[in-house]
Order: sequence, then C-alpha cells, then structure tokens
Amino acid sequence: MPNFDASQINHWIFDLDNTLYSGDAAFFSQIDKKMTLFISDYLGLEPLDARKIQKQYLAEYGTSLSGLMAVHGMDPAPFLDFVHDVDLSPLTPCNELPKAIEALEGKKYIFTNGSKKHAENVGTHLGVFHLFDGVYGIEDVNYIPKPQRSPYIKFCDVFDIDPDKAIMFEDSVRNLEVPKFMGMETVLVTSNADWHHEPKETRPASATTDAPWVDHKTSDLSAWLRDNT
Ligand SMILES: [Mg+2]
Repeated sequence: MPNFDASQINHWIFDLDNTLYSGDAAFFSQIDKKMTLFISDYLGLEPLDARKIQKQYLAEYGTSLSGLMAVHGMDPAPFLDFVHDVDLSPLTPCNELPKAIEALEGKKYIFTNGSKKHAENVGTHLGVFHLFDGVYGIEDVNYIPKPQRSPYIKFCDVFDIDPDKAIMFEDSVRNLEVPKFMGMETVLVTSNADWHHEPKETRPASATTDAPWVDHKTSDLSAWLRDNT
C-alpha cells in the first residue's frame, strides 16, 4: 500500500451504497429485494427467475437497470422510484462521518449508480448530504453505470476534476479499476457481511478482496478519513 498524502488531493469522490454507510447494515437488501419484485412483475417471471436475471444483468451491464433498459427497452424512472423507496431506519447515523467529511480540504462528491434522489435521501439521513459540492446519479450519465469508462469521464469533465488530484472510495472493487487507470488514488471500503449469495464479480468487498488497482482498504470509512487526513 502506498503512503497517502492528503495534501495532494483536491477532489474526494464517494460512492453511496455500502460505502457512505457500512455494508454490514441491513439496508441494501431492501433495495435488492425490491428490484427482484419489480423485475418479476415487469417480465412476468417467478421471483427466483427474476432474481437470476437481476444478478445476470448486474454482472454483465454494471447495474440490473442497465440490462433491463438494453435488453427490454425498459423506462428507468418507475424502476428507480420503486426500488429506492425504502425504510431508512436500519441506517444509524453516526457523528463521526459528518465530522470526517466536513474536515476534508477540497471538493467532495457523491457518485452513485443509484438515482440522485436516493443519494439525497440517504445522504440527508446520514447527516452528510449538505457537505457535498456535487452529486452525480445514474440519470446524469445516460444510465450508463460504473464500471464502464464513460460515466467516469463525464463526471470528471462536468466537475472539472483532475484525476491525479482525486481519490475515490468504493465498496465495489470493479468500480475502482477505471479511476485508478485515470490516475486517481483508490480506497476500497470493505464489510464483514456475508455476500456469498451475490455473483463474485459484483459482491461488495470483504477484507480479503484485493486487486492491483486498490491503493488502500478500510472497513471503517470515518476512521480511515480521520486517521489519514
Ligand atoms: Mg456501492
């Protein structure tokens, strides 16, 4: 792991789900289940078959939504509204995260494969939304998700980000490959939850996840920010 010098960073980029809150929280499973329900209804499939399609598209297209749009020409808006309409109470806000993010010098962003509205709901609940200078959701990148290259390029373009002076935090190891290639520093946020039911390439990172494009790893985002900045 390379040494980290926070004074070299002007742009702090955070994924949302399972990154700004721990993947250990029993929260994201609600979204996951609502996706299955929506797909089951939309394609007229039994839940088990809908789930197979959901995970297959997630692996192949970056998000299940992108696969549904590409293969079935689905309208994204009703899907996003439905799957992000979830109970926020399993997410316990902690004081550490707002403090740590507020203390960062430079601009701060949320860059999510979810909707902007979802970022606002979750970010507000966690007490951090007002601290960000920009929020990019899937609708801002023509529904082309990370880990594809084009959304990162567009994101950096719009916010005038020099990747050599940027750092990205993600729980998905495949979503850090392009940022590293572009010149960003990368931090993988891991969890202790059991994700073995997820396809290998899309499951959130655990402590044993590794890749050559990962510079740093932490299971505690607030602590990492506090200790390294
Ligand atoms: Mg994530």
